Amino acid sequence: MKVKRVRQKECQQCRHTKNTLYRVRERSDAPWQFVCKECLLPLRNGNLNYQYGGTWKSKKRT
Ligand SMILES: [Zn+2]
Repeated sequence: MKVKRVRQKECQQCRHTKNTLYRVRERSDAPWQFVCKECLLPLRNGNLNYQYGGTWKSKKRT
């Protein structure tokens, strides 16, 4: 019997588990991190070096 793996990640800023996270980094030489929507905004606001690397979702689109 196959067990469905629950795909969840936690926001690296607020440590809350979210179904959707955003892969971002503050500068081109900073490590990538996964953050939630709430934590993305202050990170992105006014940051010209901010880079966006895609959206992670726990459920794949059908
Ligand atoms: Zn967060």
